Amino acid sequence: MQLGRLPRIKLTSLPTPLEEAPSLSAYLGGPRILFKRDDITGLAFGGNKARKAEYLMGEAVDRGCDVVITVGAVQSNHARAIAAAARRLGLDAIVVLSGEEPPERQGNLLLDMILGADVRIINTDDNYVLMGVVEDIARDLRRQGRTPYVIPLGGSTPLGAAAFANAGLELLEQLNGRGIRADAIVHASGSGGTQAGLYTAMKVTQSGIRVQGISVGPTREVVTGRVRGLAEELVKLLRLDWRPHPDDIVVTDEYVGERYAAPTPACLDAIRLVARTEGILLDPVYTGKAMAGLIDMVRRGQFGPDQTVVFWHTGGQPALFAYAGWLAEG
Ligand SMILES: *Cc1c(COP(=O)(O)O)cnc(C)c1O
Repeated sequence: MQLGRLPRIKLTSLPTPLEEAPSLSAYLGGPRILFKRDDITGLAFGGNKARKAEYLMGEAVDRGCDVVITVGAVQSNHARAIAAAARRLGLDAIVVLSGEEPPERQGNLLLDMILGADVRIINTDDNYVLMGVVEDIARDLRRQGRTPYVIPLGGSTPLGAAAFANAGLELLEQLNGRGIRADAIVHASGSGGTQAGLYTAMKVTQSGIRVQGISVGPTREVVTGRVRGLAEELVKLLRLDWRPHPDDIVVTDEYVGERYAAPTPACLDAIRLVARTEGILLDPVYTGKAMAGLIDMVRRGQFGPDQTVVFWHTGGQPALFAYAGWLAEG
């Protein structure tokens, strides 16, 4: 894969560790579980968005942009990562967040404020409305002689997905170096860039590792469509002689619960279990739901004791503090 010619600015400390989780495995009586610790990618509390930010900000700087604008939910990890990346590179950041103004600015929203991002909270849950607001802001900025760089939801552009193709190669190197054969990667999936990159890397290298996305909000069809579209564009960007096949993009929406960002009881249980067996913190919006999915799949016998699963820890822990009321007891 020709990742070397893409724009990129170093903002992270890679590779992230690949750690065994023996107590969690033993507790579940299930597969060997390894955590890919992307919660410690290194940029302002880490997470998967830091990887994408390296490529997206690389392009922003190449284009001579002086301000970045992005969107997300009020507890967006992506917005926080972009705000941090922008400040590190001397750029301004405007983050347009969907939802209601919370009673207290906590978690990622607090971090956006500390990072000095221009935070605009818009009461809508429609991404098209949000992107419309962003386009208006960008037009005004251009009129003022500024050069904005607009990043869509979750940083999930082909370039953002390329960061995760690279992350996939990073994992394969770690597995090969340690002589481990993994059967599957399990991770939280939303805007699709993470899965598109990992899926493409696992397929193109013929690794035989299945990538299991666990939706944190949208239906299976929506997430699969996003992953497929991004994988198709990624293939062009990397000039790969391979085509994604919709049938082998694996997504489940069984663990969403009521809606995006509303923790399920299984999600809260999974956060406590992983904290108490491994001392690793998950988050209430993404990785808690993904782990609830993995636990359920193990209980249903979909991953047996002779198998090896990599749980991709995509980060998100700052949101824990915005969900204190859900987690302080129990
Ligand atoms: C954004 C995010 C995801 C999902 O990644 P996508 O590329 O948007 O699918 C998973 N986990 C965390 C913590 C995130 O912030």
